[in-house]
Amino acid sequence: MRAISLDEYKEKRKFSSTPEPGAEQQGAPSGGLEGNPRFVVQKHMASHLHYDFRLEMDGVLKSWAVPKGVPEVAKVRRLAVETEDHPIAYIGFEGIIPEGQYGAGSVEIWDSGEYRLEDRSGKKIVFELEGQRLKGRYALIHTQGKNWIIIKTG
Ligand code: MN
Repeated sequence: MRAISLDEYKEKRKFSSTPEPGAEQQGAPSGGLEGNPRFVVQKHMASHLHYDFRLEMDGVLKSWAVPKGVPEVAKVRRLAVETEDHPIAYIGFEGIIPEGQYGAGSVEIWDSGEYRLEDRSGKKIVFELEGQRLKGRYALIHTQGKNWIIIKTG
C-alpha cells in the first residue's frame, strides 16, 4: 500500500468545481460510537457504476472501487481496485460531481458503520464490518498492482 498521501486526491480534483470535500478537511477522526474506526460504501454512478469502499485507517480513508459491490453473502469474492486515499471528511459525502470533473456522476452512501480490524499485513487486511447492510468478517487480499480481492469470509 502506498505511503499516506492525499496528493493524488488533490491533483485529480478542481475544488472550485466539485462539491467534494477538500483534502484539508480532515473530518472527525474515529467518530464511531464505540471508538472503532468507520467505513463507508458509496454508490458512485459515474461513467461506470461502481461502489467505493473506504476504511478509516492511518488518518485517511483507504479506498477501493468495487465494480460489482461489496459481497453480502459469505464466500463471495469481488474485484476491488485500489484508488487514491480520500480525506476523512469524505466519509459523509453525497452529491453530484458535475460533468467534466473527475468522477462525474452521483454519489450516495449505500452503507456505513464501524469495523474492527483483526489483522493487517502487507498483502491482507482482515476486519469485521458492523454496518446497516454489511455485517460480518471480510478479507481484502492484494493480488497485483492496484488489484485486490474482497471476500466475505463469515
Ligand atoms: Mn468512485
